[in-house]
Amino acid sequence: MSNIEHSVSIVGAGISGIMCALTLARSQTCKGWSINVYEQKSRVGGRAHTTFINDQFLDLGAGRFCSQIHLNVYELVKTLNLEYETFPFTQLKTSQPIQKELKQLLDNLKPLIDEHRNDSFSHFLSTYLGKSKALDVIMALGYDSLSLPIISPSIAYDIIEKHPETQGFSENVGYQWYNLKEGFSALTQALYEQALLLGVNFHFNQELVAIEHSLDCHNLILEDQQGQRQTLSKGYKIVTLPPSRMQLLDNEFPTRWTNYSYGSSPLFKGFFFYLDPWWQELGLTDHVVITRNPIRKLYFKDSKYVFFYTDGENALYWQDMVSQGEQHYLQAVRNFIADALHQSAESIPVAHSHTYKFWTHGVEFSKECCPEHPFYLTLGDDSVISLSDAYTHHCGWMEGGVLAGRHTAEAIISKQSSQLRTHEAAVAFT
Ligand SMILES: Cc1cc2nc3c(=O)[nH]c(=O)nc-3n(C[C@H](O)[C@H](O)[C@H](O)COP(=O)(O)OP(=O)(O)OC[C@H]3O[C@@H](n4cnc5c(N)ncnc54)[C@H](O)[C@@H]3O)c2cc1C
Repeated sequence: MSNIEHSVSIVGAGISGIMCALTLARSQTCKGWSINVYEQKSRVGGRAHTTFINDQFLDLGAGRFCSQIHLNVYELVKTLNLEYETFPFTQLKTSQPIQKELKQLLDNLKPLIDEHRNDSFSHFLSTYLGKSKALDVIMALGYDSLSLPIISPSIAYDIIEKHPETQGFSENVGYQWYNLKEGFSALTQALYEQALLLGVNFHFNQELVAIEHSLDCHNLILEDQQGQRQTLSKGYKIVTLPPSRMQLLDNEFPTRWTNYSYGSSPLFKGFFFYLDPWWQELGLTDHVVITRNPIRKLYFKDSKYVFFYTDGENALYWQDMVSQGEQHYLQAVRNFIADALHQSAESIPVAHSHTYKFWTHGVEFSKECCPEHPFYLTLGDDSVISLSDAYTHHCGWMEGGVLAGRHTAEAIISKQSSQLRTHEAAVAFT
């Protein structure tokens, strides 16, 4: 873009889009600019999605953050005075025998991961432990993505070290995790309100349906719920959608944008409310159980509710279960909870209410998982910028969204400042 711009259009009002808008709106350079955010849904937050049921805030999407890893999210939470509490699920209840020796086993293998840069984690484990024990290890870790062929040993160790349920098997054993008392939507809502105060305009129910090439640049085509279309052609055009969504919009994504490639994994969370906290007498309060069955990770939140969280094949499994009817789903959950706790199905009470959420592309990442990946991508002529948490080394985390939004905005501010200086020098010269 060669002319001095005074407008920005941002598509997507998740954490990435809001952070980008807010950083621009706060800058001196962009004072007086028109900053517009277009969002397909009628709410902000994207995959940060809190619901309120039975007097409880439930995070259907993003749920927790770590004060040692997610420094920017932690800082925002404190600056915005959002109430937070310990996310207790770093204490694993050992239910699989191998979990007792897992930390030692992973410690012993860690020095060997550099020799296996091009292998998958499961191949790496099989090489040293044999196939059956390798499977036991992955089952004991609770994240099915660890078995994907694209997950190398170093990515797998990173996942293990940076997730609350598994950090106990690594040197990050004492890291502190938190959740927001009113859910992660409280963060995106607070940032949204700040952006509004700074004059950012939000337009809901506006879906980006195409990135169209015209003359020497690319335009964004938006469509509202009545099918009315508008074209965004001026100023900076920033698309803050995850790679899976970019692929739907542009069948040449990612190849005409970058040499990196992207993957995603489905996620499923199910929440259950009971008349009595039956898990208390089993000593499970505020504990997580990792099981081999499709429930995979089962959490007992205080005396309030129980939830499970799965990725990959098992997320698809549960999506299929719910499509077969509520009773079918609830019975399967009950059976698998019983199995996980080595109890009879009859001894597990029937939940009086529940909710769930399936995310087709819950977590998105660069397959190369390379720290050099830029925070944003541009089309050849720089007329459209794409940014996402998936491009950052915190892919799959709100932290990645904060970083991508902020860094992209800072790059625009810096480019704009240098164009202004050049312009002023030219005016002074004439
Ligand atoms: C189940 C689950 C659990 C998670 N757990 C955690 C966690 O514990 N901690 C953590 O930090 N992170 C977690 N995450 C990840 C976190 O939610 C994401 O990293 C973060 O939300 C990414 O933000 P984003 O703005 O880049 O993308 P998104 O949140 O996906 O936002 C993109 C926005 O663009 C909109 N949009 C999409 N397509 C269009 C279109 N065509 N036109 C207009 N608008 C469009 C969407 O509606 C959305 O609002 C979790 C995610 C899921 C799904």
